[in-house]
Amino acid sequence: MKTEELTGLYEKFVMNTYKRFPLALVRGAGARVWDIDGREYLDMTAGIAVCSLGHAHPGVVSAIRKQAETLMHVSNLYYTEPQACFARMLVENSFADKVFFCNSGAEANEAAIKLARKYGHERLGGKHELITMKDSFHGRTMATITATGQEKFQVGFTPLVPGFKYVPFDDLPALKAAISEKTCGVLLEPIQAEGGVRIPAEDYLRGVREICDQHGVLMILDEVQVGMGRTGTLFAYEDSGIHPDIMTLAKAMGNGFPVGAMLATDGVAAAFQPGNHASTFGGTPLAMAACVAVFEAIQAEGLLENCRRVGAYFLERMRRLREGRPLITDVRGKGLILGMELKIDGAEIVKKCMEKGLLIITSGAGNVLRFVPPLIITEKDADQAMNILEEVFRTS
Ligand code: PLP
Repeated sequence: MKTEELTGLYEKFVMNTYKRFPLALVRGAGARVWDIDGREYLDMTAGIAVCSLGHAHPGVVSAIRKQAETLMHVSNLYYTEPQACFARMLVENSFADKVFFCNSGAEANEAAIKLARKYGHERLGGKHELITMKDSFHGRTMATITATGQEKFQVGFTPLVPGFKYVPFDDLPALKAAISEKTCGVLLEPIQAEGGVRIPAEDYLRGVREICDQHGVLMILDEVQVGMGRTGTLFAYEDSGIHPDIMTLAKAMGNGFPVGAMLATDGVAAAFQPGNHASTFGGTPLAMAACVAVFEAIQAEGLLENCRRVGAYFLERMRRLREGRPLITDVRGKGLILGMELKIDGAEIVKKCMEKGLLIITSGAGNVLRFVPPLIITEKDADQAMNILEEVFRTS
């Protein structure tokens, strides 16, 4: 099939919810993907922070194949070993005591919102209001577009879910002032990824924790994009010296197998009882087998260390690229989530990079180039990306 034929089929048969690049991908291996004409691309998007082990990771492929041949799906009304094993892995390596499994980031946040509300109703005397951040992103369901503090995702979908309030990100006084007698929790990302790779002040998460503790409300961290190693630690909250009461994960957890999770401490998780929440596919043996393989590979392949080392190198190369280029107004990043802020919209730069064999995306108001590559990339890959970008800037 040719690209034009494929785009024609999409136009005819697929609902028009994505503004797609004119690129048809057929194969991936490591940090590279190939299009329908056999052209190679360095993939600095990893399916938007999903394929952290790279494409077609042999360990994950073999775990999925083996599990598919054994038991792909049974209802959550029964016990399965892969779910128990993966839940134990998450709990033993995080603040959490219990895990709920689902299939995406939005679902994980939806579960977190429901748990916080249930906890508020039962343990906080009926408190139900959630405070979230302006410029955040939490998903596309009704509750998660409401939680998302960006009007562009909400327009046309009113009435929104009641009981949400927004404050500026990285602004502790504003958060303090917003907490009311109705507040049951504060939901935020440790780094605003879709919002433009915005990294808060070093003591911000600790400050949020203190405010939540002072008022007896829940701290909920959305680690859907930055969890599972992207910032150089397994979970982004680890560097802050505090932990949340609830955390959500998805994206990189299955390296491309759709999966999500909502984790909580025992005291909070106890608000959910049988019948309160559920998912047909959540924690299915196939998904859990993929997750176990991903988790084992992160440890066995030293990916956190690689992420920190190559991430620091990448950021340094971005800093050098910025020198003498007023078009670039800022470069920032942590581990392998990196942003380059421009004076202009980044769409044309992204397009030109693609023509030269480099896949990147934008975030924020469209003026931030975002790099969320597989965590396996090398310094040489970072050089290749920066060299292409440099050429694009030179000829733009
Ligand atoms: N939360 C964050 C921080 C995200 O970045 C995203 C997706 O980009 C989501 C939630 C929604 O995840 P999903 O697209 O899997 O529903």
